[in-house]
Order: sequence, then structure tokens, then C-alpha cells
Amino acid sequence: MTQVTVKELALVVDTPVERLLQQMREAGLPHNRAEQVVTDEEKQKLLAHLKSSHGEKLEEPSKITLKRKTTSTLRVAGSKTISVEVRKKKTFVKQEPAEVAAEQKREQDEKRAAEAAARPAPEAKPEARPEAAAPAPRRGADAEEARIRAVAARQASAAQVAAAVAAPVAVEAGQPGAAERARDEARRAAPKRNEDDERRERKQAQPRPSLKEKAPTPRVAPRSTEEESDRFRRGGRGGKSKLKKRNQHGFQSPSGPIIREVNIGETITVAELAAQMSVKGAEVVKFMFKMGTPVTINQVLDQETAQLVAEELGHKVTLVSENALEEQLAESLKFEGEAESRAPVVTVMGHVDHGKTSLLDYIRRTKVATGEAGGITQHIGAYHVETDRGMVTFLDTPGHAAFTAMRARGAKATDIVILVVAADDGVMPQTEEAIQHAKAAGVPIVVAVNKIDKPGADLDRIKHDLAAREVIPEEWGGTTQFIPVSAKVGTGIDELLEAVLLQAEVLELTATPSAPGRGVVIESRLDKGRGPVATVLVQNGTLRQGDIVLAGVNYGRVRAMLDENGQPIKEAGPSIPVEILGLDGTPDAGDDLTVLADEKKAREVALFRQGKFREVKLARAHAGKLENIFETMGQEEKKTLNIVLKSDVRGSLEALQGSLAGLGNEEVQVRVVGGGVGGITESDANLALASNAVIFGFNVRADAGARKIVEQEGLDLRYYNVIYDIIEDVKKALTGMLGSDVRENILGIAEVRDVFRSPKFGAVAGCMVVEGNVHRNRPIRVLRDDVVVFEGELESLRRFKDDVAEVRAGMECGIAVKSYNDVRVGDKIEVFEKVQVARSL
Ligand code: GDP
Repeated sequence: MTQVTVKELALVVDTPVERLLQQMREAGLPHNRAEQVVTDEEKQKLLAHLKSSHGEKLEEPSKITLKRKTTSTLRVAGSKTISVEVRKKKTFVKQEPAEVAAEQKREQDEKRAAEAAARPAPEAKPEARPEAAAPAPRRGADAEEARIRAVAARQASAAQVAAAVAAPVAVEAGQPGAAERARDEARRAAPKRNEDDERRERKQAQPRPSLKEKAPTPRVAPRSTEEESDRFRRGGRGGKSKLKKRNQHGFQSPSGPIIREVNIGETITVAELAAQMSVKGAEVVKFMFKMGTPVTINQVLDQETAQLVAEELGHKVTLVSENALEEQLAESLKFEGEAESRAPVVTVMGHVDHGKTSLLDYIRRTKVATGEAGGITQHIGAYHVETDRGMVTFLDTPGHAAFTAMRARGAKATDIVILVVAADDGVMPQTEEAIQHAKAAGVPIVVAVNKIDKPGADLDRIKHDLAAREVIPEEWGGTTQFIPVSAKVGTGIDELLEAVLLQAEVLELTATPSAPGRGVVIESRLDKGRGPVATVLVQNGTLRQGDIVLAGVNYGRVRAMLDENGQPIKEAGPSIPVEILGLDGTPDAGDDLTVLADEKKAREVALFRQGKFREVKLARAHAGKLENIFETMGQEEKKTLNIVLKSDVRGSLEALQGSLAGLGNEEVQVRVVGGGVGGITESDANLALASNAVIFGFNVRADAGARKIVEQEGLDLRYYNVIYDIIEDVKKALTGMLGSDVRENILGIAEVRDVFRSPKFGAVAGCMVVEGNVHRNRPIRVLRDDVVVFEGELESLRRFKDDVAEVRAGMECGIAVKSYNDVRVGDKIEVFEKVQVARSL
């Protein structure tokens, strides 16, 4: 046992004496001077202390390099021997975050110290045997695994560093079973970690570039290591997939694309299409974007586009009729039974104040058998009267709007129109309109020349005027019956009913009462106490209480049924109007009502229609445009462009009608389905909608009601002020050459509230801007009752005393129109711009 002084020991361990003394004091040794002797025991104590305190003061190497050299001899071809020297070097570099790394190094230092004690000179170990120098592949794999585990373990706990170091060393040394031992050691070192942790850590550990190998001997999976460290550098995620692949799992990726059967109706949403192809909606969106069609996930694709997409993506497409459900429904409703004649359904039309309401009321009052109870006669929008010659049903919704609105929805509820014309007033704009509507619907007219009791009544004049509009009296060789009546005193009412029934006979109206009920909704409302209430005109078959019915997008069981007097009834046959309770909502006027066998089917169709409803609206918006009108016409023998034409004066109307009628050839023709003098009304818009017509306003404008329908239904409404322009546009439309047009955009409308005189400008209109913006430097028109009275520009635009360039809606302003002094209160000043619009498809 040698004894050294503190000073000597300090020299040996290469530490300043002071520091060593301090460490010795910390270790609980009594030394305080350099000359004091340190015994072996004391040295051990100091070492133990330094180890346990992790040797804070010892210098930490930034990397540890382990070297190993083995020499062996190979015997080649008998007597010749070759000496083989294998050198291996492994370097562990500092690469963890500072604390972890420091901790590891401390551990490594200790380990090294421990090893140094146990195995003083590892390099000198001569134990390598030749067969171990080149490890078998299996063992190589084991070694790799052991190393991975060891590195993982090192991260988890410093104690496992031993395994980390021992494993490669052992393998390199060619000790069979060393890998296993190292693995076991690592496992023992981290007993709590489960398999998953290990797998995860293996993934993390594997690509770490820190474990640099410089091994000339067969390296373990050299390519993958390089690859993975490369990936690791790039992003650290690439290695994962590689490892995943190596980890066998249950999933088998398909060997080829899966071809699916895709059913495509007339339309399909992107999401639905994607679902059928079992891909994400975003995939389809992406694909279509690449095809040059940006779409959204909820966008509705037409059949053709959807088919293209599905086929491009390699799927099998089956085209199905979107209306399969409806077709099925129609098929199930077919009924063979004995047809009987039925009562005609009549609508009363005519100009305002000519006596429509009076006529309906008179008939109702005198002819309808009112119920005994209560006397509260409920007005349900329709009633029927019994006469000696038969029954007549009246739709008590006077006005053309109701009539045309129903027709616009494809419902034909009326068999005959009674046209009321006041004998003292003659043919008026709404009379003309009624004629147009009836003709467009192909419904025969019976003329009731009303107020015949009045002194100024002139039956012949009425006949004359109507004959001029192609409503020709029978006695003049036509087909229309003219009946002089008085709604006030009741003259001629019976004759009128008789005339209607006579007309009905000509029409040979029949129905099959034994069939399941079918009808049309006349009107509906939400009653506070009773829920949705719908007035229905039964058109065929018999509707019974308790029936399951489908009405438009609504369905339900008929809970109760009331007749026109509010009396409960059990059943209603053809041409009988009833009120029904029990629907799940309020259907629209004009919706079809059908009785179905089961509620499930009714709900299915109702839901289907609800979905379809939106699409139809979109499609309609497309079809109603002048540019597209011929596309949608189908295979008629002669294509017809329907026009509703309104004009400021009769002269230009007639000129236009004449010119337009002359256009066309053997394939195409123009038909003015409605025309008249004055602004464009709701009724005009409805007529255009019902007859798929475009609306032309010549020096006239649409009122708010008409504009609403035009917007809602996507109708084509065009304003013109030059006859030539209309003719040109129509010609272009007819030849299908509609190029870019100059369309007018109305920028703003100001209403004249007051007019005062200014010495400088003449008449100045005090206005309220009611729509859009009024601009100082744009062309303007002055409108009186929606008719253009002047076109020009503004002289000045002022707010209070200031000249301004623009005035917004809701603001007041003063307007002077250049060279026009006749502005009146109530006029509208319209500011517009002309824009070039390319023809859109
Ligand atoms: P509607 O606007 O077409 O519904 O017309 P109304 O039925 O409201 O009738 C308008 C006005 O004409 C009312 O004042 C009625 O009293 C009157 N009237 C209706 N029919 C006759 C009639 O046959 N003779 C007379 N003298 N006046 C009538």
C-alpha cells in the first residue's frame, strides 16, 4: 500500500491542490494541508464521494471515443496464413440538450472509471476469434436491435449507459450472446417501460446521426442507416415510415385501385360523389381544380360533369334517372276505373272594379247551400254551386296573379275563365291581360258583360272591342259566349252558369271517382289552433278523411276535412274544394296533392322533393335567359321565342309587335304572349314565368313586385329605348348569334318629393334616393308611373348647399336635370350606366 501526500495525489489526478483539498473535505476526510498523507483507504473514500456526487469538478469530455482493435490470423489454402487486423472506433458525441447530455456524460465517466477498474486495458484484449470477426447476419440484426434498445435506454435512464456501451463492444468483440445480454440489461434497467414505449423509442433512436460508425467490417444495414440519418436531417419524419414498414402489422395495402359503382342522378353534390367513390370530398375538389373547374364540396354537379369525374378516377358509372322516385310514384298512382263527367272549375278574371268580387259573391250568396249550423261561413277560396244542369266550381281567388302563379307551377286548376267586362267601361289593360293569360294557358273564355243594369251599358261596343282582341262572339262566327249580367241585381246569372256548363260539355271533362284522391292546392295557411290548413281542389278520385297525402314538399294524414261552409265531411269527389288538416307544413298554391298508400313512401318523396326544390330553382334561373331559351326548348317542330312586351305608348307597342311578328323563318318564330301599355307588373312577370318568355320593357320599367319575381325566378328582363335594338337582339337570339350586348345597369333611383324653382337651374327636384346611388356624371332618365318621359343628364346634384358627386340610398338631395324643366312630384329619376356584357352560356 503506497502512501502519497495530498500534493502528490493532486499531481496524479491533475487537479490543483486547493481543489483536491476541498473535495477531500467534502468527502469527510480530515486533510487540510498539502503535505498530509493520503492512505489507500482515504483514496477509496474520496473516489466513492466523487462518484456519488457525480464528480462535478471533473472535466467533461465533449465526446467519448471507444476504440477496439482485434488481430486474428486466417489460414488460406493450406499453409498460408494471413494476419487480419480489425480496427473499430465508436464515437459518442454530445447531442442531447445540455442537462441530459451532462448527466449522460457523468454517467459515462463513471462507467468508464468503473470499466477501467474492471478491465484495465480493453484494447489489449486478444480474445477475438476469426469466425467472430465477421458476424453472421442474424447476429448482426440482433446487434442492431440491441444497439437500438441500448440507445433508447440511455435516453430513459442514465443507468442504462452501461448497456449502451457494453452492447456494441460485446458484439464487436465477437462474444456470442453478448447482444442478448446487453438487451437484457437494457430491459432490466427500464423495467417499467412497456413494449410500446420501446417501439416508439426505437423509432426515435434509430435515425439518430450521433452514433457514428466507422466500421470497415460488415456494417449493420448500412444503407438504411445512411438513408434514415439523411431523412432525419431533412425533417425527422421520414424514418418513421421506414420503420413502420419493418414493423409488421395487420394492414394490407390494396394491390390495385378499387373500382366502385357510382350511381349518378341528374345532379349530384361533390360530397355525395366523393362518398360513392369512397374518397374524401377534398380529393374530388382537388381533382376538379386540376381539371380547371374550381368547385366547392357542396356544389351540385350536373350528370355529365359528375360522370366525367368518376370515370377519370377510374370508377364505373351508372346513370340513374333522378326522378325515379317520382316516376315510381306516378306509376303507383295509375288507376283503371270508370270515368264519369265532372263539374267544370271556373276562375273569374277582369279589370279592377268591373265586378269580379260582386259576381262571385252574388253567386255564392244565392246558389251555395249554406250549412244549417252556426251560419259562420268560412271563406275557403273556392266553392261549388249546384244548378239544374249540373255543378260548377268557382275558384274564389280573383285576379290573374293567382291564376298565373298556379300555372307557373305547372298546375292547371281552371277549366274555364269567366272574363268580367263592365258594360259601361269596356276593355281595359287588365282585361287584355286576362285574355293573354287565358290564351297562354289554353283555357276557353266565357265573357260576362257586367253592370248591364247601368244606363251607359253598351254590349255591342264590348263585343267589338273584344273581337278586336281575338275574342269573337258566337253570333259573329266565333266560339266565345257573351252573357250580359248584373252582379248587383242578379240579371243573367243563371244564363252565365248555363253558358259555363255548355262550355264544359264541349270540353268533355271527366274524372274517375273510384280512384285514390288527387288534387291541387289552392291556398294554404298556418292556423294558430289547427296547424297547417290547406284548401285543396279534388281533381280526380276521392279524397277521404284518414288518407295519407303528399302535397308538394309536405305530407301527412288527413285529420279532418271541411267543406266550403266549414262543415266536417268524410270524403270529397272530383271538382269539390275542401279544407284539409293534418299536413306537416303549408304547401304552395299550385302544388299537386296525391293520396298514397303508406306514410313511409309519402315521407320519402316529400324529403326528396325538398332536396330537389333548390336545384330546380337554380336550373330555372338558367333556363329563363334569352341566351338559353332555345337550348331548353327541346324538339318542338318550330322553336318559339316567347316575349312579354310592355311599352310606353300604344304606337310603339303596335310597331314592335308588327316588327317582331315578321321575324323568324320556317324553324323559329317569335310570339308576343303578352303585351300592353304601361309599367311591367307582377302579373306580366308571372305570365313570362308561366310561358317561359323574356320580358321587354320599351321605355317602361318593372314595378317592385315584378322585379321581385324576375329576381327570384331568374327571368330575363330587358329595358330598351330604341325599337331597332329590340329587333336586333331578337334577331340575334333567333339566329343563336347573341354576342356581347350592351346592357343597362340601373345604378340608383331617386324619387321626387318636391319641386322648386331656382333662378340658376330652373326646376330643381328635392329628391330622396330610394335605391342604389345617384351619380352626378351618369346618364339619367325621368320616369313617370314607370314610363320614361325624358332621357338626358344631370345639371347639378346637391346635398344641402354643396355640389356632390354621389348620393347614397336613404339620403335626400337636390337634382336639376339638364334641359328638362317638367319634373313633377312622384317622378323617379333613374341613373344608369351602359355595360358591355358578353354572351353567357
Ligand atoms: P272587382 O274589383 O272586379 O272585384 O269589382 P267589385 O266587385 O269590387 O265591383 C266594383 C264596383 O262595381 C262595386 O262598387 C260594385 O258595387 C259595382 N258593381 C259590381 N257589379 C255591378 C253591377 O252589375 N251593376 C252595378 N250597377 N254596379 C256593380
